[in-house]
Amino acid sequence: MTPLILAANDTGAGTGGWVVLAVLAAAGYLIHCVIWPYRPCRKCGGAGRFRSPSGRAWRYCNRCNGKGAQLRAGRRIWTHIKGINRDR
Ligand SMILES: [Zn+2]
Repeated sequence: MTPLILAANDTGAGTGGWVVLAVLAAAGYLIHCVIWPYRPCRKCGGAGRFRSPSGRAWRYCNRCNGKGAQLRAGRRIWTHIKGINRDR
């Protein structure tokens, strides 16, 4: 923890500060994806299905299989990282 604080202190305006910020942002994004792994499906907007023009019939979205949710990229990276650690 100490090296991180030191780096943030002595390079407040330099490139090092941006690197620390980027690492923190990436870590925060990963944690966010671990807690909230899904985002609404882009095709159906999270509804999971499409209504027919008549409104009396519907079909499941074939992109998310009717779940309305899609796994976020960060969660896939996290699963990948966990897979690497498991191999060791
Ligand atoms: Zn969908």
